[in-house]
Amino acid sequence: MLYFNESINKSYYIYNLLIYKTMSKKIHYSFSLALLGVIFVIAACNQASNQSDTKLVKQLEYSRYLKFIMKPYLEDAGLTRWSEKEVLESRSLPLVSDFDALQATGPGTLHIDHNMTISGNGSVRVDMPTSLDRKSSSNRAYATAGIVRPLNREDINDYNRFSTWIYVDAPGVYTVFAGFSLHNAGEKIMPVPGRFEGSHYENVYPGKWQRVVWEIPDLYRDCVTGFSVSILLSGSPAGASETMSLYIDDMRLEKVEAENSRGFDLRRNTIAYSHSGYRTGALKQAVVQNVKNNSFKLLNEKGRVVFRGKGQSQENGFTVLDFSSFDKPGFYTISIDGINSKPFAIGDNAYLATAWRTLNFFYAQRCGYDQPGLHQECHLDVFCFHPDGRSLSIAGGWHDAADLTQSLANTVESGIAMLEFADAVKGKDQVLYERLLEEARWGLNWTMRTRFGDGYRNGGLIIGIWTKNIRGDKDDMQVSARKDPWDNFMGASYCAEAVPFYEATDPIFARWCRVTAIEDFTFADEEMEERLARKSPRTAVSSFTVDAAGLAMVTAMRLYRITREQFYLDRAAYYATVVMDCQQLERRTDWSIPLRGFFYESPEKARPLAYFHRSQEHLMIQGLAMLLTEAPNHADAPKWRESCKAYSDYLHDISKLMEPYGILPAAIYEVGNTDYSSIYHEGPRDRGAPSLEEYNAQVQNGIKLSETHYLRRFPVAYQFRGFHAILQGKAKAAFILSRLFNDKDLKDIATRQMEYIVGYNPFAMSTIYGDGYDYPQLYGAFSGDAVGAVPVGIETFENDDEPYMPMQNNCTYKEIWVHTTARMIWLVAELFK
Ligand SMILES: [Zn+2]
Repeated sequence: MLYFNESINKSYYIYNLLIYKTMSKKIHYSFSLALLGVIFVIAACNQASNQSDTKLVKQLEYSRYLKFIMKPYLEDAGLTRWSEKEVLESRSLPLVSDFDALQATGPGTLHIDHNMTISGNGSVRVDMPTSLDRKSSSNRAYATAGIVRPLNREDINDYNRFSTWIYVDAPGVYTVFAGFSLHNAGEKIMPVPGRFEGSHYENVYPGKWQRVVWEIPDLYRDCVTGFSVSILLSGSPAGASETMSLYIDDMRLEKVEAENSRGFDLRRNTIAYSHSGYRTGALKQAVVQNVKNNSFKLLNEKGRVVFRGKGQSQENGFTVLDFSSFDKPGFYTISIDGINSKPFAIGDNAYLATAWRTLNFFYAQRCGYDQPGLHQECHLDVFCFHPDGRSLSIAGGWHDAADLTQSLANTVESGIAMLEFADAVKGKDQVLYERLLEEARWGLNWTMRTRFGDGYRNGGLIIGIWTKNIRGDKDDMQVSARKDPWDNFMGASYCAEAVPFYEATDPIFARWCRVTAIEDFTFADEEMEERLARKSPRTAVSSFTVDAAGLAMVTAMRLYRITREQFYLDRAAYYATVVMDCQQLERRTDWSIPLRGFFYESPEKARPLAYFHRSQEHLMIQGLAMLLTEAPNHADAPKWRESCKAYSDYLHDISKLMEPYGILPAAIYEVGNTDYSSIYHEGPRDRGAPSLEEYNAQVQNGIKLSETHYLRRFPVAYQFRGFHAILQGKAKAAFILSRLFNDKDLKDIATRQMEYIVGYNPFAMSTIYGDGYDYPQLYGAFSGDAVGAVPVGIETFENDDEPYMPMQNNCTYKEIWVHTTARMIWLVAELFK
């Protein structure tokens, strides 16, 4: 481990806690030493329970409990193992000696440089500006600049890896983003026009040579015309150079034993298990494939065998290992047939590291904040304009994903996840509790000061460049405020949820939250009523879809909880009737699996509800469960219960269809019944836009329910792919129902969806950067390699209905995202309750 000073001692831990306490919570300045003493004791208790997780403790110490961003343990990264693979064949793609053949792309100039070289043969240097005279209207990067290394329409199927070295000189900038593309001109064009297949991206840290390896077994490469390397020109923050240089050296085609990237078969000689561990009382399973001996054992940290078991054989050579009966807290490894896992926790340490690391991701994503190692205070010159001419700065909150976009919806969901988690650890882990409230408050402040107080708010803006914080220069960006019920319900939900957390410690702040919640609910509720009266179309995200009614119901219940006013309960009960009108209550006995309980998009029941990117599938169940909990004797309570029961049946019925992984299929689709007119598409719509033919081909690769209906394992998706959020939405609903009906199976089902994200998947990788083992590089761009970032998720290949997770690092599947990271926090909260 390179990052940490091994001499850090335990008293330093306490010292850091005190610093954390005194620096992070200004409102606590008046706290007495006596209270610090209490914290000292609590911290000492925490330390005792964390003693075994030395990696986490060191990471927290180094980051001063997220006063600095965490550093990853690179020895656990997938890239480390991949880079060390035996190279079976290697062919140089000369650069300097073929200099005249190289083509410049974008606003750069090409040079040979004999001083900067890793091969000893000199490198190719591209000098480029960091911006152009005019900003793009999309607020995305100004341009890309780099080279194409041509090939003569070659079939390179004998090779499956691209490798090169790059070095970037960009004074004043912490990270830049480099792209690599394979250009194929055969029957299948690469990169695929309008899609994200065929290009790979890496975060580059200026001032050091960096090796790039990119396995390409899934790419069409029968007629390759070249490889390109380029840098994104995304502007210079204040103080940075206006030019930069990219050096490229030692480019190669290689042959290696490629990673498995497609299908359900498990990576060879690995065990799929939860790298985040297993909580006390949880179902504890792992999976292997094609072992000769199915006896397995658990070993403790000293290498002693603590449990022995026999695996259960399943189809396709899979063997499920069950050690649910073993509940002694500690760190263990699994061993079977000569294959060994890495250490994982059982007990209270399970998911604790995941919790802190995902919180670290949010800290790293702070906007309008000086974040050493990532960026200076940013976007102070980005403004939101009211139709009446007033304006306000939208710096603050969290950058949304790999770009610098901010949106209200993601901020709200992220903050609510933190508050839910804070509630789950309150009184058990004071340090984590207070750090969660601190981060949630960062988002609350942004949510409350980006509204105008008359229903108009900032809803969000795509941002893809750094700006200099000066109004009136070329990098200015602005967004129009909107009056949207979805936004206002969102704002109201977050603020209402926050009130009880701050009431005792900061009643002034709590009052601001309360007033905002009440006002925003009123704006949203009135607007919703108007739209209903107008019978507004349901195609827009903010219109009256089942999830909009679900959000309205949940928000009304949050208001009811802080006000106890009958009005809010009545509104929630009203929105519940809309939600229930959208549900299939009777079993579809005409289908091969007689499902019931799933939702349609709207009360007309014209199309089953399906998500492919974001997911709100939990909202309907969450609201109904809140109603049942708060008003169990209400006249509609039997209907609410029946609705929850029906959805519970749906989850149970689909939970065994994707063995041995146990993840939940995505949605029911009807052949020919789709509407992609409102699907967001990056770039020109005539390149890679969805078609009915593609939709139907994907639908018919699903599990056949009837001649017209199919249950897809993974969503129908086009340009935007990656499906963690779809699993997470269902998992949240399953957790809520498991509590409502005291149904342990539903809790196990929910937990499995999380386990899939952290290792219980065919690639035997944790997909969270810096958490667990074999985690992949993620598409981080402006955020660098942020510990705790959860990607959009494992995707699908073309029209297939099976997992696809290539080494190729690209959006959207590998893009870091607050939506999925927040949902991980919100699911971990369920395990800690
Ligand atoms: Zn920013």
